[in-house]
Amino acid sequence: MVRINPDKVETTGPSAADMQAALEVQRKAFKANPYPAWEVRKARLTKLRDVIMANEDAIKQAISDDFGSRAGFETDFADIVSCYNEIKDYLDHGEKWMRPRKVSIALANKPGRGEIIPQPLGVVGIIVPWNYPLFLAVSPMIGAIGAGNSCMIKMSEYTPIFSALFKKMMDETFTPEEVYVATGGVEVAQAFSALAFDHLLFTGSTSVAKHIMRAASENLVPVTLELGGKSPVMVQDDVALEEIAPRIALGKMMNAGQTCIAPDYVLMPSAKVDAFSEAMISQAESMYPTFAGNDDYTSIIADSHYARLQDLLDDAEEKGATIRVAGDDDKQQLAQERRIPLTVVTNVKPEMRIMQEEIFGPLLPVVASDTLDDQIDYVQDHARPLALYLFTHDDGAQKRVLYETHAGGVTTNDTMWHIAQSELPFGGVGPSGMGAYQGEKGFETFSHMKSVFHPGTKGILANMKAKMMAPLLAPYDEKSEKLLAMAKKQAGAAQ
Ligand code: NAD
Repeated sequence: MVRINPDKVETTGPSAADMQAALEVQRKAFKANPYPAWEVRKARLTKLRDVIMANEDAIKQAISDDFGSRAGFETDFADIVSCYNEIKDYLDHGEKWMRPRKVSIALANKPGRGEIIPQPLGVVGIIVPWNYPLFLAVSPMIGAIGAGNSCMIKMSEYTPIFSALFKKMMDETFTPEEVYVATGGVEVAQAFSALAFDHLLFTGSTSVAKHIMRAASENLVPVTLELGGKSPVMVQDDVALEEIAPRIALGKMMNAGQTCIAPDYVLMPSAKVDAFSEAMISQAESMYPTFAGNDDYTSIIADSHYARLQDLLDDAEEKGATIRVAGDDDKQQLAQERRIPLTVVTNVKPEMRIMQEEIFGPLLPVVASDTLDDQIDYVQDHARPLALYLFTHDDGAQKRVLYETHAGGVTTNDTMWHIAQSELPFGGVGPSGMGAYQGEKGFETFSHMKSVFHPGTKGILANMKAKMMAPLLAPYDEKSEKLLAMAKKQAGAAQ
């Protein structure tokens, strides 16, 4: 196993001036070709897919080297296949999404007609986190390119090996007018976020998002913020624990819990907490007979993140939590490999840090909460999460949770799968994010949906109702007043 120290994060990269120059190159190209035809967009999306296909093994190796060890299957499934799916969705539908959308027009303004024209914005900036470094660079790229934009991408300093590979792949595939990739540390990211893009999509933490929004506000750059948070699992009395344990384990253990929509904690009736904890531990052990030395189980990205997760556990234990760790692996080996087995934490209290911060690792606090009312209160009393998972077969309970709680997205009776549905826009709400993308919604995020009204060549006053509309022109008189009264009546506000 290759073990690098990703705490020695990448710090060097392009200067602010280099990135400004790259932006100007893209701006100039966009000015020369402000509306790339579908054939151009299709060719770009196709070569994006092809370069990923040609580099699958290198991608898996590079990401694994950055993590210390990343399950190849997870990279294939969650990073690579997800990119192919989304590119296919755009190749299948992008041409249709480009078409102007006709809208209906009020009778008084006919025969005028209205339409919404999706127009490329120009240059889209994309800031990428480390946890799914291929998919979270490529997925916004697909939307940006599909909608006719060029893009500039800043990779995470925590994935220096993959970022270098990705930059090489993009540099060999696209011209600087089409795609530019910056690697480097936080200083590069800061300079990058200050550029006057036409749109900036940031994926990362809620705390860094505040810096991003501040920097973007200087140039009034519109932002899409794809953030994280504590995504709850609400379990009701009517479900069988052995049925739900595998579904929660998949969400919590994929990428060792380093997933923005991983279940963060569980709310469930107190009588079930112990049996559930045992079910989760045996589920984890059946999936991973050992955690240490197991290439199917992903390491924690960096020593600092490993220490953060251990601190969360120490803090919880000091404050009275009960800790159950799956497996029986050698602790030293686990630490050396930065692997943390699934760890269920019970007897949790609100003052424990594990109940205050996004966990982003394979630790699962289980909170005893007996009634649906209590569970809904708990969720609503905390920051709005990116995802929410609800386990119940009771339609009434489902309906209450869907309408009485807030979350970016929901999967019922399972975890995470809403992200895999191309027809469902993906995004957060409040502290878990702003805006959404993927599929057609992504196309719209990266387009200006321009409203256009065509009254006819002679303008609105010459339309069918010309005589009636004439009193709109000053000097205003009695007829103008009548027209006004009629307009108010039509709008339901007659006096
Ligand atoms: P992060 O916020 O630390 O870093 C994300 C990116 O921001 C990196 O490229 C980094 O270089 C850059 N950055 C850091 N400091 C900056 C600054 N001051 N100014 C400008 N840019 C800066 O996040 P992370 O640790 O890479 O990723 C984990 C977080 O991302 C978690 O909170 C997770 O929930 C969230 N996430 C969200 C999604 C989603 O789609 N909603 C997906 C994956 C991860």
